[in-house]
This record gives sequence, structure tokens and C-alpha cells, in this order.
Amino acid sequence: MLIRAIPGLLLGVSLSAQAQAQAPQAQPQASGKVEVLWLGQSAVRLTTPGGKVIVIDPFLTKNPKTPAQYKDLDALGKIDLLLVTHGHGDHLGDAVALSKKNNVPLYGPAGLCQSLITLGELPTTLAIRSGKSGTVTPLGPNIRITQVHAEHSSELLWHNPATDKDETHVGGEPVGFIIQLENGFKIYHMGDTGLFGDMKMIGERYHPDLLLIPIGGHFVMDPKDAAYATTALLKPKYALPFHYGTFPVLAGTPAEYQAALGNAKVKVFPIQPGEKITF
Ligand SMILES: [Zn+2]
Repeated sequence: MLIRAIPGLLLGVSLSAQAQAQAPQAQPQASGKVEVLWLGQSAVRLTTPGGKVIVIDPFLTKNPKTPAQYKDLDALGKIDLLLVTHGHGDHLGDAVALSKKNNVPLYGPAGLCQSLITLGELPTTLAIRSGKSGTVTPLGPNIRITQVHAEHSSELLWHNPATDKDETHVGGEPVGFIIQLENGFKIYHMGDTGLFGDMKMIGERYHPDLLLIPIGGHFVMDPKDAAYATTALLKPKYALPFHYGTFPVLAGTPAEYQAALGNAKVKVFPIQPGEKITF
């Protein structure tokens, strides 16, 4: 403790204050609650009942809907795990930078992680390959993360510094994640997806409590397809609509989603980027 105190004394008050201003947010304590912070598009920070922090699809610094405070990647605070659903830039986003900066592993489709390794973006110790139906437990046995199908594409656009040209690389198969937390609560981050019939199987097999569901249309489900997926196929207790409004083509709105749901028995959280919900 004495050793750690000395630099503070040497730095004096002004630098110490600066260091405090730059310090990441306080470490989350085990609150027993599930917290989901939405940061625009499909970017979420999930804090588990045991205090683990999982950041998913962190498209932040170039995301027009991400609140200004979260353009600073330190604002996320402690991160224990990164999950990425596919290779598109509005999902991979700042994941490579966050992985290196915090020395935390990035889990995603095997093909995407392989390309990140081959292109020299991440070492094999940080880009962890897994596949659909594979369940991984990088945060211990009480948090189970399973990749499931997504109806989408996953090409990886990469800027080659040697040629100064963009290249398109394999991004693996796009996926969604079923995340079962310490208290049994299950979150289904659907990534980018169109409607597909096996959502029924996913609902019956995994029983998600909370859907994080894309509703913007054009590249993903529109509000009516998303409502059908919610009521007819997945039947969750809660739904947080996302992946809309970030760009003009993602025109679906939470109001349209809620209208299409009618009086279905699901609680919808039409929150704004930067807002959080807890369970
Ligand atoms: Zn996509």
C-alpha cells in the first residue's frame, strides 16, 4: 500500500485530480441485478447480478446515436468480456480497440475471429473462435453464452495499411447470443437478423426472458416482422427494440413495433441510447 501511495504524493494535487478525471468508472459491485445499458444501434453494456460486465457489438466512436460521453472508450469502465455478432462495421465497431485496451477476450463467429487473427488485428489469446450451438463460459460456469443462428451476412471490410485500400474479408456466419446469467435470467441479443422459422426452436429451447431485437428494417426485421417474431415465435417477457434510427434506411420505430404487438403479453422498453433498464 505504501508503494502505491508514493506516486500520488509525488504527483501532487493537480495531477492527482487529472488522474481521477481520467479514471474509469468505479468497479461495479455484485448488485444481484441485471443491468442493460443501450448505447445505440446494437451496442449494449450488460452488467450481471454478480458484477461482471459484458459489452456487445460496441459501435460507439462512429455511431451517430451514441451519447457523447460514451465516445470515450474509458467511459464503459471495467469490461470482462466482449461479444460481437458479425463482421459489419456497425457491430464490430470499437471491439478490437476495446479488446486490446482492456486486455479482454473478444468472442464471436469463428470465421470473424479467424480473420481478425490472420489480418493481425488481434492475437489468438484475445480473439476466441466458437460456433453456433457452442456454449462458452469465459466468466465461469454460472454465465453461459450460446451462439445461435442469425439470418444476415457478415463480410468484414478491412483497410489494408500497406496498400491504403479497402479489402473485403471472410467475417464468418452472423450470429445472435443467448446469455444466461448467474440468476438464470436469459437475454437474447439477436444481432442483425431477418425473420427465420428456427426462432421458434430457439424460443422453445432457450426460453429467453429479454429480447434485444432489431426493428429498423432494410437490413433486418421491420417492426411487423419483429412483432411476429416476438409474439408467435420467441414469446419473451420483455423486449428492448434496437437497431433503428441510426441511419435513414433503418426507419422502423418502437411505436410501430408496439402497435404491431397489439395487446401481446410482453413488456417493451422503448428507451433512448444512454438509458438503462434493470431487472
Ligand atoms: Zn449487419
